[in-house]
Amino acid sequence: MTPDAPTTENANTHPWADGIRVRGARTHNLHNVDLDLPRDAIVAFTGVSGSGKSSLAFGTIFAEAQRRYLESVSPYARRLIDQAGIPDVDELEGMPPAVALQQARGGSSGRSDVATTTQLSSVVRMLFSRAGEYPPNQPMLYAEDFSPNTPEGACPECHGMGRVFDVPEELMVPDDSLTIRERAVASWPVAWAGQNQRDILVSRGIDVDIPWRKLPKKTRDWILYTEERPTEPVYAGLTPAQTRKARQQRREPSYMGTFVGARRYVLDTFANTKSEVMKRRVSQFVRGVLCPHCEGSRIKAEALRVTVAGHNIADFSAFPLAELHQLATTLARDDAGQSVTHTSTFSDAAVTRKLANDLATRLEPMIALGLGYLSLDRATPTLSGGERQRLRLATQLSSKLFGVAYVLDEPSAGLHPRDLDSLVGILHGLKERGNSVLVVEHSLAVIAEADWLVDIGPGAGEQGGRVLYSGPPAGIADVEESATRRYLASSGRAARPSKHRQPQGRLILNSVECNTIRGLDVAFPLGCLTAVTGVSGAGKSSLIGRALPELVRQQLGQTAPTEEAEATHAEAELLLGGNTVTVRGTAAFEGSTIKRVVVIDQKPIGRTPRSNVATYTGLFDNVRRLFAATPEAKRRKYTASRFSFNVAGGRCPNCEGEGAVMVELLFMPSIYSPCPECGGARYEPNTLEITWREHSIADVLACSVDDAITLFDREERILAALHALHDVGLGYVRLGQPATELSGGEAQRVKLATELQRSGRSSTLYVLDEPTAGLHPADADRLMGHLHRLVNDGGTVIMAELDMRLVAEADHVIDLGPGAGIEGGKVVAAGTPEEVARHPSSASAPYLMAALT
Ligand code: ADP
Ligand code: ADP
Ligand code: ZN
Ligand code: ZN
Repeated sequence: MTPDAPTTENANTHPWADGIRVRGARTHNLHNVDLDLPRDAIVAFTGVSGSGKSSLAFGTIFAEAQRRYLESVSPYARRLIDQAGIPDVDELEGMPPAVALQQARGGSSGRSDVATTTQLSSVVRMLFSRAGEYPPNQPMLYAEDFSPNTPEGACPECHGMGRVFDVPEELMVPDDSLTIRERAVASWPVAWAGQNQRDILVSRGIDVDIPWRKLPKKTRDWILYTEERPTEPVYAGLTPAQTRKARQQRREPSYMGTFVGARRYVLDTFANTKSEVMKRRVSQFVRGVLCPHCEGSRIKAEALRVTVAGHNIADFSAFPLAELHQLATTLARDDAGQSVTHTSTFSDAAVTRKLANDLATRLEPMIALGLGYLSLDRATPTLSGGERQRLRLATQLSSKLFGVAYVLDEPSAGLHPRDLDSLVGILHGLKERGNSVLVVEHSLAVIAEADWLVDIGPGAGEQGGRVLYSGPPAGIADVEESATRRYLASSGRAARPSKHRQPQGRLILNSVECNTIRGLDVAFPLGCLTAVTGVSGAGKSSLIGRALPELVRQQLGQTAPTEEAEATHAEAELLLGGNTVTVRGTAAFEGSTIKRVVVIDQKPIGRTPRSNVATYTGLFDNVRRLFAATPEAKRRKYTASRFSFNVAGGRCPNCEGEGAVMVELLFMPSIYSPCPECGGARYEPNTLEITWREHSIADVLACSVDDAITLFDREERILAALHALHDVGLGYVRLGQPATELSGGEAQRVKLATELQRSGRSSTLYVLDEPTAGLHPADADRLMGHLHRLVNDGGTVIMAELDMRLVAEADHVIDLGPGAGIEGGKVVAAGTPEEVARHPSSASAPYLMAALT
């Protein structure tokens, strides 16, 4: 296919003149889709989850536009794209150069923050370099000197990380009543290597049989912190007294052992080990702490001495964007420019005004998109996917590009209805500047504002992939098959239960402190469904995603499940560049209690293609047992572990069972591409010869949940898990679909399904943070049905939710606010949906009222 060969029909006209023309799109589940879209318009793609919206908008239209563009610039890029997979489409015409803003599925590097993501960092640095006030005798610095990400600007102590590793005594020695022989130093290696350390101390005459705390401080500090590596004779198996004697008699030692300080051992292992297990083990003893040199600002001292309007660059980075905007606006005004830097000449003042004005202008769309509470130094990994996307959207506005197609993934995610108008305004702004805007959307308010609607469906996976409607939004009213139609037509009212559930008791949180929440007291009814609302940045996630589970677990004397706990480890702390969150407060129960708290969030179910739906839900264990029980497997003595791709044996040795290998791309995030050895099958050929009902183990992983229901129709335990997945709307997902390919919403539903197949759901508290982000209203209704089921079975559900149609269904509503950031964090209104809807000053009230009437 030659990209730019005009077809006969439009050979005489500009190929873009008629809009965007797609012919024969077959990416993923698309059924040979033909589609014509207007250009310079806002086009919304709708359809239930898994119907093929992303496959069409991102996987086909964007990917093909991108491929042609890259192909035209570099044959090298072409090879990489070939590896990443070419969209399956016969023809794409009229597509302008495209920019995609997607909700990032993976994490991002520890170095990126709001300033770098928005490119505001360069403006601010220029402002400090050119218009800053310098201490007497300090020469002017370059813009790079104000950056933590350049060797010139970075704090020399922490290399611009803002944090350094600390291995404190209380982590290495959790119980100081133990003796060294009783493993007081918990961070020592286990087994022989740890014993070796102890024997060396015995040789040095240190008492290993008295409680740690009774040892002299000097000795304790030496054991923990020494950087020396002394070599000592070791007499294995001798008591301390015998050892002393042996040394005096200069007897031949068993061997010479080298002692390593406990802290040094932890740091070296942490930095150098290749073993995940070892790394995880030692990371328990490491803590990231604020760099004492730069106090976390990551910048060298000289740069911190330069000020603008009396603030240094660290202050600038810490201000909420809304405040920074005010400051910049003041600086940009004629009169203020001079008063700020009294030493400056007229031209300096003009430079200040220009740069300040630039800063203010670029901040405006961010504030309009409800992000005024963020600060420049906020690390990107701590932002929600929605926040990240809106930041990048706002940044695009400042770039003043035109003639571009923007492809966006649910830009309304995480946005309060109050701020949807600004979003729509910004999309219109892009269009008016001469751009095309393609959005995958679920928000009915945004869809209704589009110029063109493409509805895909009718179902998910095989049952989807067809264009049900393409035209102005109003026209969808006649499309019977469409699940979107119902919601647009009826302004989306849900069937609400007429009576609210009565609380079975209360969960009371007192004096909660977390992020911007300060000293909050709040109560949640047990045995009910509670919705927590509030504008973006009001503190919903901080309260229910962070503080609540942690405080409740403390009260119950439980610890977080390992995957969550891992995230709090030192490495994560360091990666988050000081943005780790501490939680304070107390939890108490009244009238009734709970036994367990389960957080069902949108975090990936795994970070590599190694985890997938089958392994996460546990059903794969049963599948492997089935394979091991086949006559041929028995004959060959293949056990269940032979069918695992996580241990050596049956798996493909090249990709070690990942089915994919990492491809590093220049200037682009690295991607996984299929393993050339097994072609993605994950197994070596012999293992694949074993079949169950004519399916190899790789075939099973390639099955969708729905196909697997047919395949395993007599295997009850496997079926239970499969039915739960089907019930949460994941029937289209392949069993082996890697965790890295699942969207946040899909990951969340996998977790929900895993919970639904469990027994003993009463006395469980379920916490969900914006569970309907990424869901079509029809899927959202289905999800709500499941949540009600959990409550009817005796559970308690607390969710952060912004779709007032669903909030209206809750038994109890807690509206946080009144504003975002430090202006939020308080309970503005609490009560039944009807009560909150009548509150005079709650930002959610008018929208909730509209949903109720
Ligand atoms: P939507 O965006 O409407 O939720 P998708 O386009 O993501 O739907 O998915 C449509 C179908 O394509 C689903 O059956 C999904 O499982 C499948 N699919 C999505 N991504 C991939 C992929 N990378 N490889 C194969 N199939 C995929
Ligand atoms: P919501 O969920 O209502 O959008 P959040 O709880 O995410 O609000 O945010 C409340 C405030 O706490 C905001 O000012 C936000 O910037 C801040 N915040 C949230 N998470 C972090 C974090 N990891 N580090 C620093 N600040 C945070
Ligand atoms: Zn530092
Ligand atoms: Zn392989």
